[in-house]
Amino acid sequence: MSQVLYRKYRPKLFSEIIGQEHITRTLQNEIKTGRLVHSYLFTGPRGIGKTTIARLLAKSLNCTEKKEGEPEPCNKCGHCESVNLGNALNIIEIDAASHTGVDNVRDKIIENVRFAPSGSKYKVFIIDEAHMLSISAFNALLKTLEEPPEDIVFVLATTELHKIPATILSRCQRFDFKKPTVKQIVERLEKLAKLEEIKADKKVLERVAHLSEGGMRDAEGLFGQILSLGIKDIKEEDADLVLPKSDLGLALNFLEFLINKNGREAMILTQDLQEKGVNLKCFTDQLIELARKLLYLKITGEHDEVLTEDMNKKLSTFSENCAQDEIIKILDIIIARRGDINNLDIPSLPLELAVAEICGENRETKRETAESRNNAKEENKTIGYQVSNSGDIKEIESRWPEILEKIKDHNHSLPFVLKMSKPIGFDGTNLILAIKFKLHQEKLEDPKNRDILTNVLKSVYNRDILIKTQVDESLQIEIRDTDEVDVEGEFGE
Ligand SMILES: [Zn+2]
Repeated sequence: MSQVLYRKYRPKLFSEIIGQEHITRTLQNEIKTGRLVHSYLFTGPRGIGKTTIARLLAKSLNCTEKKEGEPEPCNKCGHCESVNLGNALNIIEIDAASHTGVDNVRDKIIENVRFAPSGSKYKVFIIDEAHMLSISAFNALLKTLEEPPEDIVFVLATTELHKIPATILSRCQRFDFKKPTVKQIVERLEKLAKLEEIKADKKVLERVAHLSEGGMRDAEGLFGQILSLGIKDIKEEDADLVLPKSDLGLALNFLEFLINKNGREAMILTQDLQEKGVNLKCFTDQLIELARKLLYLKITGEHDEVLTEDMNKKLSTFSENCAQDEIIKILDIIIARRGDINNLDIPSLPLELAVAEICGENRETKRETAESRNNAKEENKTIGYQVSNSGDIKEIESRWPEILEKIKDHNHSLPFVLKMSKPIGFDGTNLILAIKFKLHQEKLEDPKNRDILTNVLKSVYNRDILIKTQVDESLQIEIRDTDEVDVEGEFGE
């Protein structure tokens, strides 16, 4: 994959935008009837298409080939092409957040407004993160908005509406962008998978949609990482290599145990999560989020569109069987314990204490807690290889990318697993790899994979190198596709 998904398949037509139909419909009507305003304000969370729609609007306004009354751009004429390539002269994009010299922005606006667009009908200013403009920039903008030249259109985009001065607000047509639902994100990912000629389990797509929390661009970014594994038929276990090992479904089960005061099952699940290397802080956050949604449902009777239908059904059952006070108690206790998760040697302990508190005194449950603590302590003791440092770890580090590249020839997912690890010790013969997740350790311990790694190391260093692995959950790792450097643009940008 040479390009990031959201750039490769950025929507080129209004009809391709998912989740913002309330906006694209109105805009298309305005274009159709020629009843345009000169300043728009796009507001909403990051990564859901504000810049994409601003560019589409600019493209449609200047398209020379489309028929009268047709809102969609032709995507063939010179203007459309230049917008698609990102080099249209009459679209002036300003990222207010990245300009520290704010007067720069002011000058850019004042200077550019003075000259009529050359070679096209409109000059369109797209000001991203507009709430970051300085007062002087806002004043310059206001002057222009008060008497806008016929051929100028402003699109202000912001994630923080409350920071936009009222004087500016009153002169703009405002569009509130909504977070797309899980269903809409899944639809979009299905389409991308089809274009990439990849099959992907729907459960994987739903998981991506949940993790991205309504951010379409984030969803596409995550899905792109899964695609980069190079697997043609993506199953849940493949996605495990990329997606954080935490599952909303498990959090929902956990919540069910708490509501039913089933301390035993909740304890067992906690241990299970710990053993599988699930990030318990993430898990706890999901648990809090679900309990919050349950409270919302209990009070308003309304569901959250971000969840799947099955999950909402389950929450409805919880809501019927659980008093409001009980939900508040669950939330209170979990929130109070949450902060301790990363401070203790046993990350599962705060969750276990929360279970004990919520589910009440129960002998069996208490014994489980003590046992689990001992187990976890034992585990901690056994971790940690001793390695004399006569070899040079730098010797390994410097050629690590080359090693990963060579391994790719043998196995596509193995380099990914290795990216999630770090060489931390080398004595000339023994190479110690720290691994973030236990699941990845299992992959590396697999004899087939171990052989590949050993052979590649031998081909690079001309000698036998033995691999030893150890799990280190606190390992800091950047999972980033090297070609995914642009985080500026909106979804589909
Ligand atoms: Zn065109």
